Amino acid sequence: MSTAEETYVAALDQGTTSSRTIIFDRAGRIVSVAQNEFPQLFPHPGWVEHDPKDILSSQLGSFTSAVVEAGIAPRQIAAIGITNQRETVVVWDRRTGEPVSNAIVWQCRRTADYIDELVRQGCSEMITSKTGLIPDAYFSASKIRWILENVAGAREAAERGDLLAGTVDCWLVWNLTGGAAHVTDMTNASRTMLYNIHTLSWDEELLELFGIPPQMLPQVVCSTGVVGVTDHPAIAGHIPIAGIAGDQQAALFGQCCFTPGSVKNTYGTGGFLLMNTGTTPVRSESGLLTTIAVGLPDEVRYALEGSVFVSGAAIQWLRDQLGIIDSAAQSEELARSVDSTEGVYVVPAFTGLGAPYWDPYARGAIYGLTRGTTRAHLVRATLESLAYQAYDVITTMQKDAGLALPTLKVDGGASANDFLLQFQADLLGCPVVRPKLVETTALGAAYLAGLAVGYWESLTEVEANWKVDRRFEPNPDEKRRQERIAGWHDAVSRTLIR
Ligand code: ADP
Repeated sequence: MSTAEETYVAALDQGTTSSRTIIFDRAGRIVSVAQNEFPQLFPHPGWVEHDPKDILSSQLGSFTSAVVEAGIAPRQIAAIGITNQRETVVVWDRRTGEPVSNAIVWQCRRTADYIDELVRQGCSEMITSKTGLIPDAYFSASKIRWILENVAGAREAAERGDLLAGTVDCWLVWNLTGGAAHVTDMTNASRTMLYNIHTLSWDEELLELFGIPPQMLPQVVCSTGVVGVTDHPAIAGHIPIAGIAGDQQAALFGQCCFTPGSVKNTYGTGGFLLMNTGTTPVRSESGLLTTIAVGLPDEVRYALEGSVFVSGAAIQWLRDQLGIIDSAAQSEELARSVDSTEGVYVVPAFTGLGAPYWDPYARGAIYGLTRGTTRAHLVRATLESLAYQAYDVITTMQKDAGLALPTLKVDGGASANDFLLQFQADLLGCPVVRPKLVETTALGAAYLAGLAVGYWESLTEVEANWKVDRRFEPNPDEKRRQERIAGWHDAVSRTLIR
């Protein structure tokens, strides 16, 4: 009698610069990883594009490599989950599958003037109240409109029903299922600026405003649930595609932030903070975004989202522009070599300040320099700035949502820095927890898919896989905490221009 073959779940993690596949086992451990970078296209200043075929081929290539590296057969994959760069759009021909143009990437600013015009016309309140988003070129709506307006024949073809549109998850699923499924999940839909996050449907008034024919848009599905099976020459067999979520939402799920008030921060190049607000969409008073955290079959959970424009990038700046550290990791050793910054504050507002300040004109500044300031003080102050910025966003979220923060869960490159995480805990006055597995984005997609096919039975079972690498307890010195925060806010107030 043969023993049952071991099975796995594969997460396709389609990012902005690379496509990765990670194969997980039942304990949520990584069995294999494969990654392919693909070209970034900059046809004009401020424009960013991807070739949709590069997105697809790099993704498929990583899947094949990950399966080979795991030493398993594709039939041993119980389900595929997809997570993706958000907001980026593709428009393609429903019959041939040919894209009508390159994908317009979330970073692309080509529609900024058009969005400014909508704001001038007074559309902001309508857009925010329906979508939870602040009008910006970042989101998908104006990008789809741009393609319809600027690609010859596109609008007519779309009106005839010959074209399909979608975010990257949608493009991947359509191709992987051989054109059988034109779907997107609620988290991705909530980033298009066309989806009403309260009624959970494409919004007619918004479609009208942006001039987008509804027949182009995918069906919106839950983040967990089988949407089809693979039917593609590059993938042997018919594997269920069973989970979809945008990257930040997948990370929130992968961090097991299932209860209202739980927050994760990703300290990457930028910082991405999401707070689960449960079944209630919370409208922010301070310019945070309201978004869908996850669409479960029985209920939708919402989140507040805030970003820090410059997080780990400030450490890169120390290394690459100032040349005062050799590696990002060295920042920790230098920061620890002094007891404090001696009153030095670095405000890394290189590209303006986001929530809760919203000053695009602010620029970086260093305050409190004395004759005794050393590079160690400067490095420490820069590291501390990552924590101060996260602190500002988190306290704003707590105020907006009226929820207390039990712990902060962290991931991303700079979460390797123990000094930073201890400082963050001291500032917040709550524990900061780093999980053993920091590939939370891929893990979240895997969980969504695995839950849908019964690979994992419940959120409780998934949560049991979440293992602490290190927990940073806050220092109880309240006076010191208040002094530091006051010093930071003083530095920020001097940096603001408007
Ligand atoms: P992204 O996915 O946004 O490209 P990552 O999550 O890979 O980013 O994180 C990379 C960032 O983390 C870089 O900006 C780097 O400066 C920072 N970083 C990496 N290791 C450390 C460290 N030990 N201390 C502080 N920052 C670090």
